[in-house]
Parts: sequence; structure tokens; C-alpha cells
Amino acid sequence: MKSGIYQFEGSSVVFVDPVRVLNLSYSHFRVTPSSYYSRFFEPTPSARVSKIQRKRKRKEKTPRPLNEREQAADERHQRVKHFLLKAHECLLEANDLLINLGKLRVDDGRTFYPNSTDEQSFVELGNVWQAPLFEISLHLNQDYRLTQGVQNCEKRNLPAFGSLVANETNSDMEADFLNHEYIIPKQSSFYMSDLKQIHGLIPVKNEHGFNLIVIDPPWENGSANQKLKYPTLPSRYFLSIPIKRLAHADGALVALWVTNKEKLRIFVENDLFPKWGVKYIATHYWLKVKADGSLISGLDLFHHRPYECLVLGYCYGKDEDSEYFSKLKSIPDCQVFISIPGDYSRKPPIGEMLREYIPGLEPAHCLELFARELLGGWTSWGNELLRFQDSRYFSRK
Ligand code: SAM
Repeated sequence: MKSGIYQFEGSSVVFVDPVRVLNLSYSHFRVTPSSYYSRFFEPTPSARVSKIQRKRKRKEKTPRPLNEREQAADERHQRVKHFLLKAHECLLEANDLLINLGKLRVDDGRTFYPNSTDEQSFVELGNVWQAPLFEISLHLNQDYRLTQGVQNCEKRNLPAFGSLVANETNSDMEADFLNHEYIIPKQSSFYMSDLKQIHGLIPVKNEHGFNLIVIDPPWENGSANQKLKYPTLPSRYFLSIPIKRLAHADGALVALWVTNKEKLRIFVENDLFPKWGVKYIATHYWLKVKADGSLISGLDLFHHRPYECLVLGYCYGKDEDSEYFSKLKSIPDCQVFISIPGDYSRKPPIGEMLREYIPGLEPAHCLELFARELLGGWTSWGNELLRFQDSRYFSRK
């Protein structure tokens, strides 16, 4: 429970508590569970349940035959269903864990639900002509200063957009940006820019590149557009992401989040991975449950599957047969990890679960693309990186 990753006995399925995993990134702060887990804890109000049931009944009445693509998606679903059901069974049999699920969101009285008026829009700020002039001011956190007897608090002012901002210390830093305060975890760095400027992240030498690259692109998809959570881009834009030039000379494990849309899966297999120089290896599944252990939606609901896919591949650096690859454990297919989702389509942190498959020397250089939060020991890139670093999401340890 301390590590946030719970391995079920006699199985490779794991349960993840993202809050505990994220908190390993911090020396003096902790993410408050109540602000991470803002959904899936309360039972759905009965009025809403009957509305959902009515809507589903209406849909069931007029079943339309699946088109060719939908049939292919359904076949894919049928192939993994068995693994997902088995994984869910593991959770339902783990009584000690089940009892604790409801306690993952302890009420610490710090719940922060941002609304559009008090939240900073990094996407908008990064697009105005003044963006290159905005500065972020980093300083050692107050508790560290007090315990270490640091009298003068030196502030470092750095460009907030289009430049690498790093906290190389072993202690979390606080950062001021346009009257908001953000928490920067120990040993983390970030580069906030639009996709057009991603080349600024390419290391001068590929010996300084990344061994693990996690990517969660803003795929075009009905629900993201509908709720306007973040801007999306047509898939072809992602072809230009310079994965090979970001990868370490010893190679990189690439982990790509994809939706269940068949068109997208085909695009990744036939176009995206080949263009990136990535060889497909396996697909893992994130199964989403509520605090009572039930799935967030019916497993067979075509448009609302309770799982998402993580497609894994290798970008072989200098040499596919190098000692780094030959020593690695081979990545099994159809591995399942389970968690209670946070809000705003936040993905659980997966780095630790992939550690044994990362090529190269330790400690691995890890990169997250299209990130909205920072991780200790990682570099993060995206156009709204500090979104979940607002100090109101944190309490002091
Ligand atoms: N993995 C993230 C998480 O768990 O919170 C979610 C990432 S979300 C799917 C995609 C992100 O890409 C959003 O933060 C969005 O603002 C960002 N994005 C959209 N268009 C972008 C662009 N042109 N350049 C850089 N980032 C962009």
C-alpha cells in the first residue's frame, strides 16, 4: 500500500493508487487524495441512474448493425475481454484491498475543485504574443528553508514558455507565476510549449536522450471535444513528433495511450509507429473501477468501455541486439492494471510498472509528452504542464 502499487497474489495484474505513486515524487508536499479523486467515490444519485438507464434502453431498442470498422473493434474487444474479466475477478477476491478502496480518498478538508474563473489557462497564455516574456520564479520551499536554516530565499526567474525549467535539487521547489503558486517536485524538469516548438526538447547528443517516453496525445474524440477539457489535434499532426531524436542512444521504450477507436489503432500500427521508428511489442490495458470495486461502465458498452489501451514499442537506438535489449525481460501482452480514475481524464502514473522493460543504464531518463503534471526524476513537455501543480492541489507533508 505504501508504494501505491498492489500486486495480486499469483497474478501479474496490479492495482494502482495514483495518489500514493505521485506522492513519491515529493519531499515536502503531498497531493491531496480528495482533489485527485473527485469522481467515482459517491454512489450515482438515483435520478441520474434512471436517466442513464432510460438513455441506454432507448439505444438498445434500435440496435444498428456494426459497420466494418466497428466489427473489427468489437473483435479486438472480444480478444481482450477474458484478460479484463480475470483482472477484475482478482480485485473482487482481494478483500483486504477492497475494504481499503473507499478509504483512498481520505477527507483532508483540502478539496480543491478548480473552475474556469480561478484557473490559469496555460494554453491561452502560451499563444499570446507576450508568451516569450512571461517568467516563472522558482524558490526553495519554506519548510526546507526553515529546517536547513536558509535565511535568504534566492529566487530564480526563468522564461515560463519555450525553455527548459529544472529543479535539480532533492527538495520540492515553489514557483510563482502570474499570482498563482505551483509546486515543482524534486529532480524534475519541464518544457512548456506548443507542438510546433517541440524540437526545443531534442538533446544535443543522443547519449542525453530518453529511455522511457510516455505519450498521451490529444486525439480527436467526441467526448474530449464535447466537454472542451483541452484542445485536440488531427492524428496526422503527431507524425511529426521526433521520437527517434528524443530517444536515448541505447534505445527507448515508447508507451502510447490510445482510445478504443479502431481507426486510431490502425493508424498507430500502420503509420505512426513506423514513422517514429518504433517497433510494436505489446498492448496493456487500464481497467477503471469505482471505489466499491465495480467497473465504471459495462464491459460490453461499445462507446463507453471501462478501459483504455497503452500501446508499447521499442525505439532501438544504435543496435537492436545490444546488451541493453538482450538483458531485458520481454514485455508480456494483454497485461492489465486497475485503478480508480481521477477527474479530467487524468491517466495514472505508469513509469514504475514499466521499469523492468526500459533499456539502457539506470537511472533511466524518463519523458512524458502532452503532460499536465510533473514527476520527480522526469522531464515533462506539453502546453499546460503546470495544470495539476497548482499549490491548491497539495498539502504540506
Ligand atoms: N496525460 C495527461 C494527464 O493524464 O493529465 C493528459 C493529456 S491530454 C490527453 C492531452 C494534452 O495535450 C492536453 O493537456 C492538451 O492541452 C495538450 N495539447 C493539445 N494540443 C497541443 C499542442 N498543439 N501542443 C502541445 N500540447 C497540446
